[in-house]
Amino acid sequence: MLSLQPFPSNPNPTFLNPPFKPPPHPQTLKPPNPYPKSRHAPISSVLQWNRKPELAGETPRVVVITSGKGGVGKTTTTANVGLSLARLGFFVVAIDADVGLRNLDLLLGLENRVNYTVVEVLNGDCRLDQALVRDKRWSNFELLCISKPRSKLPIGFGGKALVWLVDALKAREERSPDFILIDCPAGIDAGFITAITPANEAVLVTTPDITSLRDADRVTGLLECDGIRDIKMIVNRVRTDMIKGEDMMSVLDVQEMLGLPLLGVIPEDSEVIRSTNRGYPLVLNKPPTLAGLAFEQAAWRLVEQDSMKAVMVEEEPKKRVKTMSVVTLLPSESQELYDAMPEDGCLSLCKRDLCKSCCNLGLTVHWRA
Ligand code: ADP
Ligand code: MG
Repeated sequence: MLSLQPFPSNPNPTFLNPPFKPPPHPQTLKPPNPYPKSRHAPISSVLQWNRKPELAGETPRVVVITSGKGGVGKTTTTANVGLSLARLGFFVVAIDADVGLRNLDLLLGLENRVNYTVVEVLNGDCRLDQALVRDKRWSNFELLCISKPRSKLPIGFGGKALVWLVDALKAREERSPDFILIDCPAGIDAGFITAITPANEAVLVTTPDITSLRDADRVTGLLECDGIRDIKMIVNRVRTDMIKGEDMMSVLDVQEMLGLPLLGVIPEDSEVIRSTNRGYPLVLNKPPTLAGLAFEQAAWRLVEQDSMKAVMVEEEPKKRVKTMSVVTLLPSESQELYDAMPEDGCLSLCKRDLCKSCCNLGLTVHWRA
């Protein structure tokens, strides 16, 4: 027979407060330096101070992330902007409409959790909510894949089917999304037409090179023909050193060529590749990186239907400062702060010595000597 032992009314205090044991190596108590070999000042602040972005426009906002050329960063943008929106508190569904070359699940680290896709939903093999993969880090972010990797666009799957899907997502009583992001395949064939059909707005991703720009221009025309008037662009893989050496087109040049409002400028950053391979989107990195901050700012502008100004790359400065922190202010305030920066301040330009050039990336730098 079981005998129930009463819990001791006066438990041994050492049970609650175990005696202090010195660690075997006292030096291990020293906190590790998070920036071991870096000579750069850490980026200390990510989110804008004092306020949250105000959601403009009717929800859900259905945004297609597109480009003409492949490999310019559509999927990277979808993952990072999508998770930034989720971190800002919005409900987000990201649809991977790149059927043959699906890889949004990989970038998000969700590949092992995709059991069902839209194909099974349409065949009646599962419910829509079973095909939605909820991110464990941010539960208000969900991924939806159209089909299994390496499969072709299912026969009969076209714009109408995607519109039905978007309507079904809108009609959900719980977890009705604020944003539906559609990761578009490259090119301008059937997959592209399908992906843009339900969208009301588009984010055109381009790199500052002539092939990408020519394709982007063509895609802009097609989006407009489809009735999508709200088109903003993200210029990705920008290298300010190359712009200075006149080996790369400046963001200003890109904007003049495409004539589109600028949602964000993302620097070339090896951290993007690292985060892609780890399945851990860049915007979740701690400490944050410039490219991560730039994606976050682009998400902020998307929420508020805002855009940023491209500014000229300035001369290399002379004086440097020891510590500084990035304060990402309202995009509309960036220009004022930029103009107000004293000439003898740190305006240096490189990866993490934050400077006036950061304004070119839409970041506003709060600096102190
Ligand atoms: P797309 O979806 O347009 O085909 P991806 O988002 O898959 O393009 O990106 C293609 C490759 O470019 C990936 O390996 C990605 O890591 C890399 N990449 C994208 N943006 C950047 C960046 N800003 N800096 C460095 N590498 C990048
Ligand atoms: Mg892609």
